[in-house]
Amino acid sequence: MLKISNLSKQYDDTVALEDVSFEVSNDEFVILLGPSGAGKSTLLRCLNGLTTPTSGKIAIDGKTLHDSRADVGMVFQQHNLVEDMSAFKNALTGALHDTPFVQSLLGWYGEESKAAALEALQTVGLLEESHQSIQSMSGGQQQRVGIARALVQEPSVMLADEPVASLDPGSAEEVMDCLRRASREWNTPVIASLHQINIAQAFGDRFIGLREGRVVFDGGPSELTTAV
Ligand code: ADP
Ligand code: ADP
Repeated sequence: MLKISNLSKQYDDTVALEDVSFEVSNDEFVILLGPSGAGKSTLLRCLNGLTTPTSGKIAIDGKTLHDSRADVGMVFQQHNLVEDMSAFKNALTGALHDTPFVQSLLGWYGEESKAAALEALQTVGLLEESHQSIQSMSGGQQQRVGIARALVQEPSVMLADEPVASLDPGSAEEVMDCLRRASREWNTPVIASLHQINIAQAFGDRFIGLREGRVVFDGGPSELTTAV
């Protein structure tokens, strides 16, 4: 369970987030919606610890985020994968937290980490492609390997900032489906920011609309239909 309480962030004279509070349960896929400048990225940066909020609190399973920052899995828009390595090895690098540094350099990962990498590739539907190099994969497949890598980290919460921004509609839907399966199959809260409401609606369990740093909508797919 992720709990965000009265979160605010101010940059000089810009209020990027104002008194944002909501909770996300472990199998929930939440989509942040809102126009550019609404505060979506700022909220995700507060959650992954890259930004310190001006006030408020973020707790994961009752512990403040500060204590559990390693538990945040990120899916990047630019996926940050190693191009000439296989999907499997890229997914494995998510197990770094479990692996002594020198061993990881030598590619010595434990059997448990390998099993987790395969399970994660299965979740994102790329088990058959596990030996393929990243550079031979489509943008959507690469993004799904990025999701697998984040899962192998066994995070307490997974975040995705505009995960489908540069993808064609078909690949975007596959990536959204993978994020939904990630929350279900790994019992992990997933929060993704998105500006395409049509794609969001088909996949999210819940939608949080931000405008000028405030929560202006919080509801499920059916409520979203009436609000739009
Ligand atoms: P979104 O992701 O929804 O487009 P952002 O979180 O990027 O929104 O931005 C929210 C507001 O905070 C905007 O007015 C933006 O200009 C401002 N902002 C974001 N980051 C910074 C920063 N590092 N310094 C100053 N202002 C910022
Ligand atoms: P390469 O060294 O050609 O980059 P891979 O990255 O495909 O090879 O695999 C690295 C290691 O991970 C190998 O020891 C391989 O046996 C193991 N591995 C890769 N994919 C799988 C898989 N689907 N199931 C089990 N082990 C795998």
